[in-house]
Amino acid sequence: MSDSNTLLQAEDLDVRYGASRALFGVSVAVRTGKIVALLGPNGAGKSTLARALSGLVPLTSGSIEFDGQDISKMPAYRRHQAGLSYIPEGRGIFPGLSVIDNLRIAVRHAGSRAEREAAIRRALELFPILGRRQHQRAGSLSGGEQQMLSLGRALAVGPKLLIADEMSLGLAPLVVDLVFDSLEQVRQTGISVLLIEQFVHRALEMADDCVILSRGRVGWTGRAAEAGPELLDRYLGEAASSAV
Ligand code: ATP
Repeated sequence: MSDSNTLLQAEDLDVRYGASRALFGVSVAVRTGKIVALLGPNGAGKSTLARALSGLVPLTSGSIEFDGQDISKMPAYRRHQAGLSYIPEGRGIFPGLSVIDNLRIAVRHAGSRAEREAAIRRALELFPILGRRQHQRAGSLSGGEQQMLSLGRALAVGPKLLIADEMSLGLAPLVVDLVFDSLEQVRQTGISVLLIEQFVHRALEMADDCVILSRGRVGWTGRAAEAGPELLDRYLGEAASSAV
């Protein structure tokens, strides 16, 4: 059972893709206003866990409590409405639509027209570059700007938890800095973040807590500051030493 400092508590999650099992009894907690770095080698189950928490793949067993309610069987759109925002790997924007239309779609279920407009204004204030590009096709933005847009879309709905899956993947180093800066901004607004990142050390610098997955199981969990080099080497091997 979670306490008032815990925003999300997932217990004993099992997930299968057909006959193959991807998660084995995974438990994770996200504290209110804190960042959790979710680490693990390729195929460890990070994206599967992100999808299971967001309601995009069903649980075989286990339970998820979010903001005081059991969301284990809740459809993805209702989890989104309840404050759980997921940025999938690959950004999840509509490249053929303008920036402003991408934001409009993101907030289409959010309250009255005035509330939707306010939500869009918030996203544009947080990332002014989006305001300057609002009539441009999303697909013509730079990689970093597209990530600002995916963050803007996720934040426009006023989430309590942001799940960000490999936002820095394929971006140039300077743009990666921009992504981390914007995640820092997100933290300052008090939103909790579950951060899946290839840049292990940067993720740990930013995070409060850390969960390391290994072959579909939790290999280690604790405070991010305690995830030392030996531990990272054991679970992540070369990925930890190269991904600074
Ligand atoms: P990566 O860093 O490579 O994205 P990951 O840690 O996010 O890896 P997942 O993508 O969650 O890992 O994959 C966990 C396991 O589930 C892997 O064995 C993968 O092959 C399998 N898997 C993932 N998605 C599917 C799917 N849609 N259908 C079948 N198996 C899948």
